[in-house]
Amino acid sequence: MIRDNLTQIFDTVIQTAINCGRNPQEIKLVAVSKGMGVDQIGQAIDCGQTLFGENYLQEASEKIRHFSQKISWHFIGHLQSNKARLTAELFDVVETVDSLKVAQALDKHAKSLNKDLSILVQVNTGKEKQKSGVLPEETEQLLRQIAQTTNLRILGLMTIPPYFSDPEKSRPYFKALKNLADRLSAQQLFMDNNQIELSMGMSGDYQVAIEEGATIIRVGTALFGNRIPHALDQQGA
Ligand SMILES: *Cc1c(COP(=O)(O)O)cnc(C)c1O
Repeated sequence: MIRDNLTQIFDTVIQTAINCGRNPQEIKLVAVSKGMGVDQIGQAIDCGQTLFGENYLQEASEKIRHFSQKISWHFIGHLQSNKARLTAELFDVVETVDSLKVAQALDKHAKSLNKDLSILVQVNTGKEKQKSGVLPEETEQLLRQIAQTTNLRILGLMTIPPYFSDPEKSRPYFKALKNLADRLSAQQLFMDNNQIELSMGMSGDYQVAIEEGATIIRVGTALFGNRIPHALDQQGA
């Protein structure tokens, strides 16, 4: 089933990209494996998937240590600066940096680990009170501050729009993230201003996200099937 789902998702990604004039190879699939066990992750690895996303540190650390294969792990959950050491240690890309405090904590530990840590800055494009992410109008300042750190590489931006059952309703938020990234890249605020990563789109709306410029889509349910909600999910990602 995971194999069929993966094939189906890649077919959709390729078709959607071609239909909107994009190169399908610019789009990476983060397989969101929260709530899934090492057997399911192993099945996806057997199908060639090498990029996974996890939300909860404790759950992730057990799984990450289990695999010796070369896998890239993205942290996509809510970040806490008191857990920055483990986050910097376990993950290749941290997608949810949204404050200077968290960035500085990650930088400090990346430095002590002798590691250049890739990050995305999470933007609260919907300006939802309960949601993580820096406000769009405060993003430039945060990027300028993070630029002062030594071991963080800002690859791009990430967003989780407000939830709608109709994926078309996510479109304005994806457009807003793309516009913001274009503006900030004109000011040379990313590591590679010609190739900015935009992480947007989940199971329900990744096609719309691709049409609006996503380079990273984060897909869980459409790949692994339904999961039992984590207690922390209620707090809003
Ligand atoms: C859980 C999660 C996803 C995947 O959601 P699905 O709807 O299952 O595809 C993507 N991004 C983040 C930040 C998540 O927490």
